[in-house]
Amino acid sequence: MAYVKWSRYLLPTWKEEPAEAEIPSHKLMLRAGLIRKVASGIYEFLPFGYRALRKVERIVREEMDSIGALEMKLPVLQPEELWRRTGRWEDFGPEMFKLTDRKGQGFALGPTHEEIITELASREISSWRDLPLTLYQIGEKYRDEIRPRFGVMRAREFLMKDAYSFHTSWESLEETYNDMYKAYYRAFLRCGLKIKVVEAPTGVMGGNVSHEFMAVAETGEDEIALCSSCGYAANRQIAHARPPSPPRVEERPLELVETPGVRTVEELVEFLGVSPSQVVKTFIYVGRGGPMAVLVRGDHELEETKLLQAVGDPTLRRVDDPDEVEGIAGAPFGFLGPIGLRIPVLADEAVRDIPAAVVGGNREGYHYVGAKPGRDFAVERYLDLRRVQEGDPCGHCGAPLRIRRGIEVGQIFQLGTKYSEALGATFLDRDGSEKPVIMGCYGIGVSRILGAVIEQHHDDQGIIWPVEIAPFHVVIPVLRPDMGEQMELSERLAEALDGAGMEALLDDRDRSPGEKFHDAKLIGVPLMIVVGPRALKRGEVEVERRRDGAKTSLPADPASVVEGVRELLRAESI
Ligand SMILES: [Zn+2]
Repeated sequence: MAYVKWSRYLLPTWKEEPAEAEIPSHKLMLRAGLIRKVASGIYEFLPFGYRALRKVERIVREEMDSIGALEMKLPVLQPEELWRRTGRWEDFGPEMFKLTDRKGQGFALGPTHEEIITELASREISSWRDLPLTLYQIGEKYRDEIRPRFGVMRAREFLMKDAYSFHTSWESLEETYNDMYKAYYRAFLRCGLKIKVVEAPTGVMGGNVSHEFMAVAETGEDEIALCSSCGYAANRQIAHARPPSPPRVEERPLELVETPGVRTVEELVEFLGVSPSQVVKTFIYVGRGGPMAVLVRGDHELEETKLLQAVGDPTLRRVDDPDEVEGIAGAPFGFLGPIGLRIPVLADEAVRDIPAAVVGGNREGYHYVGAKPGRDFAVERYLDLRRVQEGDPCGHCGAPLRIRRGIEVGQIFQLGTKYSEALGATFLDRDGSEKPVIMGCYGIGVSRILGAVIEQHHDDQGIIWPVEIAPFHVVIPVLRPDMGEQMELSERLAEALDGAGMEALLDDRDRSPGEKFHDAKLIGVPLMIVVGPRALKRGEVEVERRRDGAKTSLPADPASVVEGVRELLRAESI
């Protein structure tokens, strides 16, 4: 007997909405007894939730194995020294959990495993004959998120599948990258997720090419820019739109004007009677190469990810303390401008074509009007630094871009030789020359998938599990468990289903029928078989589908129920 009796199971449900949760998946994972919170961003998976998590894990494992990736296990505790060699002990910043052992040696709780695996490769790979090679693991990751929230969506401990591939050439990397792309898509599809694949920023991982797999959801923390005309899709942080046309104003001589107490773009527009597109905002950033000024048009937003990626310095940070700004630029905060600045100036490409710009005067209470880029101030580099807006013309075809929200459930990277060079992972090529191994890395947020699935599959009564990852296939509420006949029939059905490979949860708790129906909807198992007096009187049971409430009558004998349920589940599978 392997089916589960609810009375002997740990599946506590909540009637009340939990105050700590903001989004549906977090609320439902608590209410339906999947997870419990231990501390901020740290969760226990209760048996019901863990069943679903294991199924997601199994799907991911099957898809990795199908493309020849080899499963292994890497340590969570990672020596500081390795992270120092790639420069990421600093680059990762406060997101990394750092600790010291009794001998005073530094360690990190692995937020990712490039360092460990590349060091392994440097020991174990020596020849072109050893390549290509793809390794993966499924294990816990740790990130000290500044604001853990949304349950498993942004947790500080989470389950991740991470894979790493090693190659002799970029062509070989691309081949594996494409295999991963397809395997990821299949894995998410099998979990029941509706996915958009988008071009992605590489961030602290580095490398050139990257894609993110976004589960489309209104509650997602990521934004994606989509073009329905040419199919372009990118994370909003790096999305490219055509530069907007310059403001229609005449060129004029530079003039310093008094603007007492006028600091913001809105105030300048009001005070000077100019359009926001004529105003240029100046920001100060500090990174490894020292301070720099960054310019964007007054009607545009600066997209920091684009800046970080263009400068190639993940430690770059915006200076917004007025004293620090004044110390660096020698100008008062609010009246900062590029004219006469002694630090390098970068600008968004839309700044270049403003014939007469309004910029800060670098003196308290003054602005310049009629400033012309190139004539009145030097710009070291023009870059695409603008945050795209809904309706902006697509960078490829010009059709209007749409902005949608998504949950990032996977990301793949073509890393190149960043890690192999830093950690000495080389191989001897056919011609006898020693070369750095070319690498890719690939991650799936396994625990986050559960949250994403529930975001996409629920209604106001509870979860609606896709069959492949449902913790159980069938729930059988026994209306009167104290009546021997009802219990006996329910047990016979559950046993038969279990014998045929379908997982049944028998609700034999001492609760009212109403509560049992309510909980069945809440936990969201795909099918419900009601065993009550009618089942016994008429010799029929009713199977109700959670998704749409559709009902099917089946003869109340085990063989017919097994056949009927099998058919219904098959129809639900992908
Ligand atoms: Zn387009």
